[in-house]
Amino acid sequence: MKYRYDELTWPEMREAIARQPVILLPFGTVEDHGPHLPLNTDNVIVEAICLEAARRAPEEMLVMPLVAYGLDEHHIDFPGTVSVDMQTLIAYVADVAMSPARHGFTHILIVNGHGSNASIADLAARRVVLETGAICGAVSPNAAIDPTLAEPTFSRMRRSGPGGVAHAGEYETAMMLYLRPDLVQMDRAVREIGQVKLTYFNWDHPEPSALAWQDWWSRMSESGVCGDPTVATAEFGRALFETTVENFIRFVREFRTIPLRPRRDHHPSSRSAGC
Ligand SMILES: [Zn+2]
Repeated sequence: MKYRYDELTWPEMREAIARQPVILLPFGTVEDHGPHLPLNTDNVIVEAICLEAARRAPEEMLVMPLVAYGLDEHHIDFPGTVSVDMQTLIAYVADVAMSPARHGFTHILIVNGHGSNASIADLAARRVVLETGAICGAVSPNAAIDPTLAEPTFSRMRRSGPGGVAHAGEYETAMMLYLRPDLVQMDRAVREIGQVKLTYFNWDHPEPSALAWQDWWSRMSESGVCGDPTVATAEFGRALFETTVENFIRFVREFRTIPLRPRRDHHPSSRSAGC
């Protein structure tokens, strides 16, 4: 059974609408990931999680083509980064996610693989709900952003110390060593923690941070790395990928059960009558 959205014909799509799989929209970026990982790291990881989950549960999911560019102006000092204006991005991602809703799909998930896209994904999903009535939400299964879906493997197997997974660190390097080892140059991997740690500001996962703040990347990292890629292994990547995919399938199944209930106007009837 096909599970890539754009590989269906329109009559097949009409049948898919009757089946009501969850529509997954992977959302990544093109940005520096240190001297050892390629610019497409976030895209590779988030797309692989979505495609493998859908391959294992093709009745329940359809994966849209990836939105490959994200909110990345803060990385622009590093050669190769592609940045999209944040208002443009909210509008663009919302338009893409809204299209399946206009065809009758009721459950749409924006699946984010890049930390700075999180608020964009959230706002775009809210627009889809407000403008179409569909159930649209956002999730970040990349454990460098939110390790929830990678537990318990993430905590059990992690080798790096505080701050070691944030960006191009142990997590992303391990995932790439498993998914695309041909693109990883471990001999060039450097450990650089970069970001400050304060009482109310914390970058280390899964500890929460009261302060939301994103500095210019070149003010906090020389190499582009914020973490410790040197301890990453393909074995950790394989275990993380497997745990994440299985948890993600459970997550999507639960999301699919959220009921689509009618709205109700509680204003006096004269208002709805247009008086
Ligand atoms: Zn990344």
